[in-house]
Amino acid sequence: MRIGVLTSGGDAPGMNATIRAVVRAALANKDQIFGIYDGYKGLVEGKIQEFTRKDVSEILNKGGTILGTARLPEFEYESVRKLAIKQLQKNDIEALICIGGDGTYTGALRLHEMGIKTIGIPCTIDNDIASSEYTIGFSTALNTACDAIDRLRDTSSSHQRCSIIEVMGRECGDLALYSGICCGAEYIITNETGLDKDRLLKDLKDNRLAGRRHAIVVISENLADVYQLAKEVEDYSGYECRATILGYVQRGGAPTPEDRLLAARLGKYSIDLLHEGITGVAVGVVKNELQYTPIEEALAMNNSSNEELHKLVQKIS
Ligand code: ADP
Repeated sequence: MRIGVLTSGGDAPGMNATIRAVVRAALANKDQIFGIYDGYKGLVEGKIQEFTRKDVSEILNKGGTILGTARLPEFEYESVRKLAIKQLQKNDIEALICIGGDGTYTGALRLHEMGIKTIGIPCTIDNDIASSEYTIGFSTALNTACDAIDRLRDTSSSHQRCSIIEVMGRECGDLALYSGICCGAEYIITNETGLDKDRLLKDLKDNRLAGRRHAIVVISENLADVYQLAKEVEDYSGYECRATILGYVQRGGAPTPEDRLLAARLGKYSIDLLHEGITGVAVGVVKNELQYTPIEEALAMNNSSNEELHKLVQKIS
């Protein structure tokens, strides 16, 4: 087969490991494999290059993506997707492996509906693709968040402060939930729990009165202006309070072994599925088994974070 591979949308650690796995598995199968630069934008522009083994050497442990990523909102239009298909036809590429998040999946689905064989690989730090229990990049971002929160805890304790730490995860609270549990946060606020500001302020004041030296609040992005929230906590609770937005550091860094392993498994699995004639699907792991789901179904699945973990937080925070 002649297969294309691209990375699209927000980058995530492990994208390179995924590209490597796809390329190596394809070559082992005697396929020809083509790297497409800058996501769907590069596809439309014809930025396509045939890859050899050597093109993916020394990238397994590197953050970012050697293919680059870009956003092309116009990919929503059929006329723009037709330009992409023309480029695929020009290069005789019959199948496309799309590495990214749900936006990338939507693009892959639209191409599939137009007759292109596509496979989606979940690669996003937010863990917001419900057809896979874990997405590539989540483990690394979780490590980064935990490392930062541990450091903030040290200094919060010394200064008897409250620390509010904003982590990524717009649609899915997993990064906040997992990092909050792993770092013993007193409060974890996600889009699933919502922010009950009055209760938070009151609890923090009670904590302070009870003599607790510090408090850690982990909150998902987009739920509050955390700098303003810190001011309100300071005014009300008696704690000095600082807000920290972790931001894009969560997107970078060398992928963890878990992310590398997931990348290797899902990359090879995607090539296997193409050879079995199974396309228009998203790959993932469920109960640690490889699994595929039609992309349309994957996009419709509820991606809210783990209920059991939410209950656990109520008992141990
Ligand atoms: P992610 O894949 O990380 O969720 P985006 O939401 O930015 O990132 O989507 C990546 C790209 O996927 C977009 O820039 C666009 O090219 C394509 N895409 C997103 N939504 C659609 C859509 N509704 N139709 C076609 N293509 C889309």
